[in-house]
Amino acid sequence: MENHKLKILIAAAEVTPIAKVGGLGDVIGALPKALKKLNLDARVIIPFYGAIDKNKYKIELTGKNIKVGDDSIDLWQTTLPDSAVPVYLIEHGLFNGREIYSNALADDASDINKYLFFSNAILAGLKAINFRPDVVHLNDWHTAAAAGLLKTDYQNDQYFKQIKTLYTIHNLANQGPAGQNNYMAEGILNADLVNTVSPAYAEEILTKEYGAGLEKILAKRKKRLYGILNGIDTDFFNPETDQFIKQNYSGKTLEKKIVNKTALQGRLGLPPDKDIALVGLVTRFVWQKGVELITKKFAKLNCQFAFLGTGEKSCEQALLKLAHKYPAKFKVLIKFDERLAHEIYAGSDIFLVPSRFEPCGLTQMIAMRYGSIPVVRATGGLKDTVISWSDSLLINLSASGEGARRVKATGLTFENFNSDEFYKTLETALEIYYHQPKVWRQLQLNGLKQDFSWKKSAKEYLKLYKKLLSKTRRRTPKTN
Ligand code: ADP
Repeated sequence: MENHKLKILIAAAEVTPIAKVGGLGDVIGALPKALKKLNLDARVIIPFYGAIDKNKYKIELTGKNIKVGDDSIDLWQTTLPDSAVPVYLIEHGLFNGREIYSNALADDASDINKYLFFSNAILAGLKAINFRPDVVHLNDWHTAAAAGLLKTDYQNDQYFKQIKTLYTIHNLANQGPAGQNNYMAEGILNADLVNTVSPAYAEEILTKEYGAGLEKILAKRKKRLYGILNGIDTDFFNPETDQFIKQNYSGKTLEKKIVNKTALQGRLGLPPDKDIALVGLVTRFVWQKGVELITKKFAKLNCQFAFLGTGEKSCEQALLKLAHKYPAKFKVLIKFDERLAHEIYAGSDIFLVPSRFEPCGLTQMIAMRYGSIPVVRATGGLKDTVISWSDSLLINLSASGEGARRVKATGLTFENFNSDEFYKTLETALEIYYHQPKVWRQLQLNGLKQDFSWKKSAKEYLKLYKKLLSKTRRRTPKTN
């Protein structure tokens, strides 16, 4: 048993780069690669969306007409780019649409059937590929129903008997379309173990403020609820090798970063100025992300803003209005654009994440990897990943270079969800940027030195998988 190579099937609605909307995709794209390095047999299963490029990802048919209840699916297979991680794709008419989700919150009613069917097909497809995992690792409400199905429809099938489930909450706010069952709640109640994507968020969601109505249900599973910080794909997000950016650089050649700033100014039509601070933001423009804290008052700050995102129309409109009013200050791009995202990480000096709540958040980690200093709200994973300026060893702002080296911070944080606090924190960041270049450089280097790789997190997941299996051994005699 100890030497048995653990087999894990990771089921999710997204996987980067094949089908990505946000952070969920990034996690599913990176975790199995890191697990593979720990000698696990980790595989991924996702829907075969109409938007996925079959040729680009060399996707091949592997099984036809596999029964799922009265219906049937075709199964396709490829590997994650630059890896040997198998990815299975379930083809069915329900997934033919061009968009991954029907709306920005991934909870449109028309998505119910789609993901209920997917949850069932994940299990039905297993036999066809002749892969019997030790653990089915489910992610967010789109796959949550599978945990219950294993205990009902599939419980008498010997093939599924030993399979355990881990349910990862990436975002508690998206619980599945309203008016029907609460799939998020079902996943929490039915999975053998539950985790979320940062230790701070794992605690926060037990409170009314962050529990999104599920705090009581979560409390029931408190002993089985863990917090494991996400990593980022440090190969994909690497300023030394990034193919998307104009000038590669590292901690040793940070002065070259400025080439990316001027290139970005040129590309976006911002006034060219290598000395002005460039402030970036890449996100889904939704309620959670708190972008409405950025008001016209921010135009008074001595910096330029480059924002990239898509989402709710009202959010988009408010930002576009700013860009229209202050064209030399704000550039707002409403689209999903991986290249431009990398250009903003590389070209910005400061990076904003003013979230109302944040399960983990990846953009602040990516920003630190690119030497862009995060200014974030102290909540959830942001709190766990950004070492705050105020928590840092306080030094006199007139400190010499010697003093600068004692600074431990990687970014600046503000406590309350409040535009003025955010504004003042950004103002402080700009002050350091303009008047304390040595301190600034130290903040950048501190961020660049952080280990945000998946290796650490993958080891934590491995512990949870092992915990699940040791439970099996204990539980088997009890059921006799
Ligand atoms: P969430 O999962 O809530 O969307 P995260 O911070 O966990 O937020 O992850 C966001 C990921 O999606 C990051 O990799 C970010 O760069 C990327 N991203 C978000 N919006 C865009 C966009 N419009 N264009 C390109 N990349 C984006």
